[in-house]
Order: sequence, then C-alpha cells, then structure tokens
Amino acid sequence: MSTTFDVIVIGAGPGGYIAAIRAAQLGFNVACIDEWKNDSGGPAPGGTCTNVGCIPSKALLQSSEHFEHAGKHFAEHGIGVSGLAIDVAKMVARKAAVVKQNNDGILYLFKKNKVSFFHGRGAFAKAVDGGYEIAVSGAANATLTGKHVIVATGSNARALPGVAFDEERVLSNDGALRIAAVPKTLGVIGSGVIGLEMGSVWRRLGAQVTVLEALPTFLGAADEGVAKEALKAFTKQGLKLEFGVQVGEVKVGADGVSVAYTNAKGAAATLQVERLIVSIGRVPNTIGLNPQAVGLQLDERGAIVVDAECRSNLPNVWAVGDVVRGPMLAHKAEEEGVAVAERIAGQHGHVDFNLVPWVIYTSPEIAWVGATEKQLKDSGRAYRAGQFPFLANGRARALGDTTGFVKFLADAQSDEILGVHIVGPYASELIAEACVAMAFKASAEDIARICHAHPSLAESTKEAALAVDKRTLNF
Ligand SMILES: Cc1cc2nc3c(=O)[nH]c(=O)nc-3n(C[C@H](O)[C@H](O)[C@H](O)COP(=O)(O)OP(=O)(O)OC[C@H]3O[C@@H](n4cnc5c(N)ncnc54)[C@H](O)[C@@H]3O)c2cc1C
Repeated sequence: MSTTFDVIVIGAGPGGYIAAIRAAQLGFNVACIDEWKNDSGGPAPGGTCTNVGCIPSKALLQSSEHFEHAGKHFAEHGIGVSGLAIDVAKMVARKAAVVKQNNDGILYLFKKNKVSFFHGRGAFAKAVDGGYEIAVSGAANATLTGKHVIVATGSNARALPGVAFDEERVLSNDGALRIAAVPKTLGVIGSGVIGLEMGSVWRRLGAQVTVLEALPTFLGAADEGVAKEALKAFTKQGLKLEFGVQVGEVKVGADGVSVAYTNAKGAAATLQVERLIVSIGRVPNTIGLNPQAVGLQLDERGAIVVDAECRSNLPNVWAVGDVVRGPMLAHKAEEEGVAVAERIAGQHGHVDFNLVPWVIYTSPEIAWVGATEKQLKDSGRAYRAGQFPFLANGRARALGDTTGFVKFLADAQSDEILGVHIVGPYASELIAEACVAMAFKASAEDIARICHAHPSLAESTKEAALAVDKRTLNF
C-alpha cells in the first residue's frame, strides 16, 4: 500500500469520513486513519456519531418510544396489550446491530471510493518538504506522508471536576447507551440535547429520572416559546427538571450515586440515584494527535484554531467538526468535510452556518433553523411572527400527537424567512423544508403559496407561514 497521499484525514467520524470520500471523488489519492475499535477490536469507523452518539441514541429512542406507545397509547386505538415487557439486552443488541451496519457501510464506501483506511492512531510526526509526516500506530503501524492533512478528531464527554466516568454508576453518553437493566432512579446532570434524549429513553422504560441543570432557564439556545412548550410536555411525562442548581460533592457507592447540590433558592439538597448520567458538554479532542510536533495552534478550550474556511495556522492543514469552533453537530461536521475537500480541489466549498438546523429527538421533537425571537429583538431587526398549533392539524390528530406548534419569523419589510422553530411530531423531518426555503431566501408568502399535501404535518408549516400575514385557511 502506498504511504504517500495527496490528502490524509485523521478521524473517520462524520467530518472525517465524508471529507475523505469527497476528496477521493475529486480525484485525490486519500488515506483516512481512525482508531475506534468495536467489541472484537476491529475497526469501527463513524466516530462518536455512529458508535456512541447520533445513531445508537436514535435506535434506543425508537425502541423506548415503541415501548411507551404500546403501554400508554395503543389502548386508545383499541389495541390491547398484555404482558408488555422490555428486554433491555435485546434492545441494546439491536442498537449494536444498527451501529455495525453503519460501520460496515463506511468501510464499504471507503473501498468503493478507493480511500486507503488505516486502523490506528494518527499523530503528527514532522513537517516535511511539501507536506506532513503522520505516524500511524495501532492495528496498523505506518508512516504516511500527505500534502494536505484534514484533522477530524472529534470530541469527548466532559466530566464533572473530580468525578471520573466509570461507565457503571457515573455514565458518559457511552455508558448511558448500554445500561444493562432499567434503573429505578436515574440522575442526569445537564439538560442539553444529550441529557434530554438519554433521560427520555430511560424514563420511557420506567426509570424515575431527575435532571439537574445549572442554568436558570431551560434550553437557552432554543426559541423561548418552544422551550416553554417542551418543558410543559416533559414535565407532564414525568421527567423531573430542576434549574439553577449548583452541584457539590458527588459520592459514588456500591449501590448508587449521591449528588449534593444547592437548589435555585439556595437550599441544600441531595439527589440519590442508582446511576448518574453526566452530560455537561463535550471537549474538543486532540489526545494523541501530537499537534505540538508541527506547531498546530489550539485555543484555550483545546479546539484547533481555524478560520471560517477550516484552515488552521499551518499551510495545508485543515480541521473540521467537533474539534473546531461552532456547534457540535454531525451534519455541521459533514458540511465542513465536503467544503474542505472541495477547497483543496480549488473549488468554492461553502458552509452557511446560519442554516445549520438544530434537532432534539425527544417527544415532542424540537427543531429549529435561523434566528430566535430573542436574537432578532436583541439585534433590533424588525420582524413578524406566525405560529400554528398541531392541535388544529388533521394529520396530527390522526397520529394522536397534537403537542406543539410551528413558528415562523420573517423580516417585517421584505418578508424573508429569518427563523423557523418547531416543537411537535416529526419536527426533525419538517425542519428540512425551512432549511431549503431559507437557503433560497424564500419569503413566508412563498411557503404560504406552495401546495402542501393534505393531510400532512407540513400543512402546519404552511399555516404558520400564512399566520405571519395574519391569515389562516384552517379556522
Ligand atoms: C449521545 C449523543 C447523541 C448525539 N446525537 C446527535 C444527533 O442526533 N445529531 C447530530 O447532528 N449530532 C449528534 N451528536 C453529536 C455528533 O455525534 C458529533 O457532532 C459528531 O460525531 C462530530 O463528528 P466529528 O467527525 O467531528 O467527530 P467524531 O464523530 O467524534 O469522530 C472523531 C473520530 O476520530 C477518531 N480519532 C480521534 N483522534 C484520533 C487520532 N489521533 N487518530 C485516529 N483517530 C482518531 C475517533 O476515534 C473518532 O472515530 C450526538 C452526540 C452524542 C454524544
């Protein structure tokens, strides 16, 4: 196998493997190095997203949603269920099979696109004439030389200071995705996307879940109305959320974890749980990359410093995804990966950071793109808002899921769509229409004039666009 490449990609998460494939499609000789191991020690490309993130979490969300529906909602359809039980081992095995399909799919794509894959850790060795030397150690040991290097080494879960993840009692996203039996009580520190999704999985399966959040408000990045509606729904489902808490000493014992904290009123309290998920954010990962060997610049958070086009401080060294600034989202990493490969080829790869959608796959789902009302108010931009509830949507009624609404924010003069916020069924799918509309700089009226299938949840999108103009077809 050749050891000299046009492009070497370090990391095969969604940022890295997509960059490698796109670069190969553009005619470059490409290597991709990834160290993730499956349970048998074999390669498991796909990164956090495939192995312990997006994909397995969605598999468990699906299983737990089926369980909750069977237990709580089938009866209203006239479907009787007796002896309903959850086989956690089988559920987790199904999740593992879904993950493996994705790992295998990436290996197949590497082969198909002639990307040379190296299973091991990649580290900068030195700058050489016309490129960089990368040492690979692990299952594969090699020294590679690349003209361009794309770093896509992702991120790791942030631990509470002084409380290491043991993945038994104190769980990161990794342990939270493979709990062997439904715990009676589960604590979650942090009410962000990961905490809410993992908390939802185990609550649906029967755990009593308490979420402790340091911030005084819920989902600060989301639109206020959406956050309020979601909080109402989660509370009704039995998820206990406390805000404005300050976590103190965490004691880990043989039968559980006790978390001392001060609540929003300043009173001392203790949460005693069987297991604790800590989801307080993620840290950019450059462990083992040896950036100092070539003088690759990191910021104070440990992220690789890049410009808007993912160029580092070194010529021909690029970085994408969670290891750089910006939202830690798989599709943002993918877009950056494609754009970098195209830039290396002299093309004009482009990522519009304003059009990166955010999705939380809870029930109700939450999704948004563009500005929130608060951001528009703070920036002094004059806007008009239109909102439509799923309660008035025939498809939502037929589904038996009428929680939430679609909200449009459009420029007061030009009517250009500035933000779309959805809380409700299939928000994750509905948001794509808003992304397309905003990419084409559509006005709210454009959406209002487009024929939407009936009955469909997307009719709420059209109605929310109509509501910007204080019109409706539905009442
Ligand atoms: C529980 C959970 C759920 C999530 N759900 C979603 C979701 O629904 N949607 C969404 O958009 N995002 C989601 N995310 C975030 C998403 O997983 C990340 O944003 C995404 O994986 C980042 O991609 P990446 O390519 O930058 O890095 P990663 O996916 O972290 O991949 C980095 C890869 O690099 C490898 N690596 C690191 N260092 C080296 C080295 N020196 N040599 C060789 N290999 C190395 C790692 O082994 C890994 O395979 C979720 C995250 C978690 C934890």
